[in-house]
Amino acid sequence: MALPKRDELLKEVNYDRMPEKHWMDTKPEFRPGTYCYAGEPEVVKDLGLPNPRKWQPHDEDWKLPENWKEIVLNAIRDRMNRFRSFKLFMDICVRCGACADKCHFFLGTGDPKNMPVLRAELMRSVVKGEFTRSGKLFGRLAGARKLTEDVIKEWFYYYYQCTECRRCSVFCPYGIDTAEITILAREILHEIGVNIDWILKPVRFSAEIGNHIGLQPHTIKENIEFLLDDIEEITGIRPEVPLNKKGAEILFVTPSADFFADPGIYTFMGYVLLFHYLGLDWTLSTYAAEGGNFGFFTSHEMMRKLHAKIYHEAERLKVKWILGGECGHMWRVVHQYEDTMLGPAPKNLEVPKSPITGTVFEHAKSTKIVHICEFTADLIAHGKLELDPSRNDHLVVTFHDSCNTSRGMGIFEEPRFILRHVCNNFYEMPENTIREKTFCCGSGSGLNTDEYMEMRMRGGFPRANAVEYVHEKHGVNHLACICAIDRATLTPLMKYWVPAVSVGGVHELVGNALVIPGEKKRTTDLRFQPLKGAEEEA
Ligand code: SF4
Ligand code: SF4
Repeated sequence: MALPKRDELLKEVNYDRMPEKHWMDTKPEFRPGTYCYAGEPEVVKDLGLPNPRKWQPHDEDWKLPENWKEIVLNAIRDRMNRFRSFKLFMDICVRCGACADKCHFFLGTGDPKNMPVLRAELMRSVVKGEFTRSGKLFGRLAGARKLTEDVIKEWFYYYYQCTECRRCSVFCPYGIDTAEITILAREILHEIGVNIDWILKPVRFSAEIGNHIGLQPHTIKENIEFLLDDIEEITGIRPEVPLNKKGAEILFVTPSADFFADPGIYTFMGYVLLFHYLGLDWTLSTYAAEGGNFGFFTSHEMMRKLHAKIYHEAERLKVKWILGGECGHMWRVVHQYEDTMLGPAPKNLEVPKSPITGTVFEHAKSTKIVHICEFTADLIAHGKLELDPSRNDHLVVTFHDSCNTSRGMGIFEEPRFILRHVCNNFYEMPENTIREKTFCCGSGSGLNTDEYMEMRMRGGFPRANAVEYVHEKHGVNHLACICAIDRATLTPLMKYWVPAVSVGGVHELVGNALVIPGEKKRTTDLRFQPLKGAEEEA
């Protein structure tokens, strides 16, 4: 399907237009580009999930199980008992509207059901109508409605137009986190076989093979060899990348996109150069080769299952601690659930300690996992890296706070600290679009699939708008981030909205700036783009 032209996309968006009908009477329109395809039956079956069948969201009949209503009501009851937050969120909203214009999907569509308050109401109204006396007695007057197949279709449409980014929760005076409602709504929908392909396939590959696109160990090895060829051509140095090395000190886990996908590969080249420079005793596992936890978008149980692979490999390889790459939801999963659903970490793991600076990462006492930006910022703070920021002078950089590492984990300063040491030209986007108020890339939480491109461009519009602002004001031409999904999703987003801006990871810029003993004079960056002044010298 053709993507509308940039100028046409937002033409019909009108935040002031009063809807013609009550929201309960408005059905979603499954228009190509605005919804994701359904999970394929074999994949659903392989994962042991319910109701495998051929269906698509645009079908009239979704072939739900006969007792679908009973399953959904039981699932809601179960979540209300297990998650006190869910029960509270179903009760305490005062409809103040503070969250209404904070969601990127509302800003990109103008659809009232994309206001976080109304997104939560899609579930709240059913809880009222099915579980409360006032709802049963007064129905719509009390904001209540019954669960119907149309409600299921509406849930699917709008809970997959929420990237679980939590921006709305920053503005809610009651701390209501609509992302948590979306997470549970999707989990409930899975119980009747309502799911999407681009989450389930990566989950299956991650569970069965160890990374989200199913790269076999020999393919990972070959891809890395290609990247090492490039590193050698650029720097004259060929670092070693140890695979499945037993007894290494550190297991490094990064999103698998860093092994094979542009622009993640340049971030990977940056890691490899850094580890070579430090003489680190590290290894990659080809069996737990996925930082990104797609299980998180399916259910808490699936999240736990995929995370366990990392700990199993850490145990099998007898490493001391785990270093995690630039990834978003890997960190939300680790940070939010370690002490409840995921832990405890295997006994052979120790509290992470930098072998270079001696810093003990006390905050990782229970997880035994340190974020690469914490590790690198610590190295720079201790003066352990020789850096030449002028090697990034061809770039004017801004930084996108990934929702999961910023709002989900609180990593705000480390990437900025690194960027200020590896680049001479760094500019922040407007204050209300960064740090805890950052705008989502528009394609997180498993929505980065091609059939959903129109909605991705709409959802990503506020982010792109802020980039465009610094592009015009300061000449920004590069958007740095610390999340693999962001590297993948911001690239088409920039191509669409701000084509002069490239996208990449922070450690790509570290790799460019690092002055490595024995290297040859560099004339290009890690993308083979000429360094500033190199062409004139040549
Ligand atoms: S969590 Fe993010 S995507 Fe979901 S409703 Fe809130 S702001 Fe929108
Ligand atoms: S800001 Fe909080 S209380 Fe106010 S409408 Fe939104 S969810 Fe409800």
